[in-house]
Amino acid sequence: MGKLLINIILMILVTLPARSDTFLISLFNEHSLSAIVVSADRGTYRLVADGNDEGVYGENDILYITMHGDSLLIRNQSGRIGVCSAASFNEIDEFSVFSLRPADPVTERSFYFGSLDISVEFGRLRIINRVDEHNYLAGVVEAEAGTGWPRMFYRVQAIISRTYLYGNISRHADEGFHLCDDVHCQVYKGRLSGNETIYEAVSLTDRLVIVTEDNSLITAAYHSNCGGQTVNSEDVWLVHRPYLRSVNDPYCLNSRNAVWEAGINTDKWADYLRRMGFAMVAAKPDPQLFAFRQQVRRSFYNIGDVSIPFRILRNDWGLRSAWFDIRVANPSDRLLIRGRGHGHGVGLCQEGAMEMAARGYNFIDILQFYYTGVKIKRYEDLF
Ligand SMILES: [Zn+2]
Ligand SMILES: [Zn+2]
Repeated sequence: MGKLLINIILMILVTLPARSDTFLISLFNEHSLSAIVVSADRGTYRLVADGNDEGVYGENDILYITMHGDSLLIRNQSGRIGVCSAASFNEIDEFSVFSLRPADPVTERSFYFGSLDISVEFGRLRIINRVDEHNYLAGVVEAEAGTGWPRMFYRVQAIISRTYLYGNISRHADEGFHLCDDVHCQVYKGRLSGNETIYEAVSLTDRLVIVTEDNSLITAAYHSNCGGQTVNSEDVWLVHRPYLRSVNDPYCLNSRNAVWEAGINTDKWADYLRRMGFAMVAAKPDPQLFAFRQQVRRSFYNIGDVSIPFRILRNDWGLRSAWFDIRVANPSDRLLIRGRGHGHGVGLCQEGAMEMAARGYNFIDILQFYYTGVKIKRYEDLF
């Protein structure tokens, strides 16, 4: 079957997720791997190479899969299995787990549920994990939020990740998979700790998604800590979303990422501003010129009649957030940056949501606090 035809069929298949859907996730999508080591960590798998059954592989077997021109060279502990253009490592037993270790370049091993399809594309290995929604979402929730938080917070995060999955199902359709495993989509590192609380959160929120008044899936943006006030979407991305409004958040103020400090060399700051068009910044300016306070979030840093968006300053200087004050240190060759929050500040504040969860709010309360005017519905009820 031609690649174009396959892609057209995939585009049709990927538009509406059904309950039992398997998703195709491109692993190590941002890496150019040319060799991997695959083995069964739990259960058994069948190796299929160009449609041929190459036997069953269990827990003590190891497969070495290397790029060989446009083909794959597959070996096991006892030697060469063969060369093929595409290979699959298909789970036989439900709940099997395989491990995958990049061997060129070498990185650490990860563990995955589901099955694996490998081929060569654009001079690199194309590695696709076929995984069910439950295990995919549990992996994403743990990768995006870590462990040790209140149960209700994981339900919030599970609904956000599911809303993203359904809303972006066609994002990589022309490449023949649903989502990649990197920040471009949602970070997915397979099975991490296997934390039961996270799997339970995914089950208990089964099919729930966040929608607008007219039943459209929302862009469920979130960040680590807003510092006490979230941001309107258009102030960061220039796109207005009615549900991504600035809200005052009293819940995250005592959390880990609520405040931060940094120092910047005064001369470097002056050089930077001159490059950015602040021509009136003299060769030896009075450092007090640079002082600025943001008691509430502001969009622009102003000197004289020139201004620059704080989101640009944040990006160019690698600062933790765009909400910060600038004071002149003593001696004045340094500027003291005091900031609030961590991340872009749009949508849900994770540390605030964790605190709301700890105080007994439910997932609807929490999602409706951060996403203005939204509803939480079952996916089936949208049509
Ligand atoms: Zn992606
Ligand atoms: Zn917050």
